[in-house]
Amino acid sequence: MNIIGRSLLGVTNRNVFRKMITETRPGRALSTRFVAGETLEQAIAAAEQINHKGATVSLDHLGEHVTERVQAEAARDDYLACLDAIGDHGVDGNISVKLSQLGMGFDNDLAAASLDALAQRAAAVDTTVTVDMEESAVTELTIDLYSVVQAEHGNLGLAVQAYLHRTAQDLDAIMPLGGHIRLCKGAYAEPSEVAVQSGDEVDDAFDRLTHLLMGDDEVKPAIASHDTERLDVAASLAGQRTGPYEYQMLYGVRTALQDQMLADGDPLRIYVPYGVAWYPYLTRRMAERPSNLAFFMRAALSRG
Ligand SMILES: Cc1cc2nc3c(=O)[nH]c(=O)nc-3n(C[C@H](O)[C@H](O)[C@H](O)COP(=O)(O)OP(=O)(O)OC[C@H]3O[C@@H](n4cnc5c(N)ncnc54)[C@H](O)[C@@H]3O)c2cc1C
Repeated sequence: MNIIGRSLLGVTNRNVFRKMITETRPGRALSTRFVAGETLEQAIAAAEQINHKGATVSLDHLGEHVTERVQAEAARDDYLACLDAIGDHGVDGNISVKLSQLGMGFDNDLAAASLDALAQRAAAVDTTVTVDMEESAVTELTIDLYSVVQAEHGNLGLAVQAYLHRTAQDLDAIMPLGGHIRLCKGAYAEPSEVAVQSGDEVDDAFDRLTHLLMGDDEVKPAIASHDTERLDVAASLAGQRTGPYEYQMLYGVRTALQDQMLADGDPLRIYVPYGVAWYPYLTRRMAERPSNLAFFMRAALSRG
């Protein structure tokens, strides 16, 4: 993430800005570009449309950093309902979860038990669970909780962030557990002690890790990026694989490229966020591309 993106994340954390986005029509309109809706029904409808086009989905019931047990349990139950709906509607997809939404940070046992429950329910409907990677303060804990449940159930996957200095070493421990591994650039503002800062360094790290993952047929690499140069590197390695792999992109981002990849027969999964807690997710999408914010500002000003 560049300096503008990092500054933007700082601004969007302010309450006044949050209100401007969540309580105005242009703000909510901006959210609909990146978020499939506020209800499970809307998410399933979006998933069915995406399946119809030939892509699989990963449903993300938005929420993170809950601070009370009751919220963490509600998040687990929402995800259980989501898995049931995937089964009932025959959706070709899985779920993506943030462990801080399940209680990681204030009750790690609860988070682990909830992830275990999700893995079991996912197995019952013949699908998987991907654990999103959050900010670096919780990387270690996320990997620890993931590893315990993955060793038990084997139907999990984990996101890793190319910008972190530690990721290649983490993969040494994670890859022997099998499962799917989503490689992304990383969406949080991180200091130089833990993450590379320039776009070129992130790209180099991403390509190195792509080689590592695509070279191992025991894991399923999921190359999560909208950057065509990064995707081309992965594509150049795909022909040598005997194991499965896929590309992943976000709902509403580079949709023409998504359509082109599907037309070319590439295996593509779309990450579909839904729910009322969409603000932090939206701020990360704005930080990645500040012109998204300009779109919002233009719409807001034209109303006045
Ligand atoms: C499926 C998926 C899951 C992810 N999971 C995680 C996770 O668990 N943890 C985490 O930290 N990060 C996650 N990310 C976010 C990721 O880390 C990046 O922040 C994000 O994908 C942007 O990086 P990029 O690889 O697309 O490259 P970039 O260089 O940022 O983008 C390449 C091109 O894509 C387009 N683009 C990218 N983002 C946007 C946007 N928001 N709006 C409009 N156009 C855009 C632009 O044209 C840009 O030039 C995930 C991303 C994907 C695709």
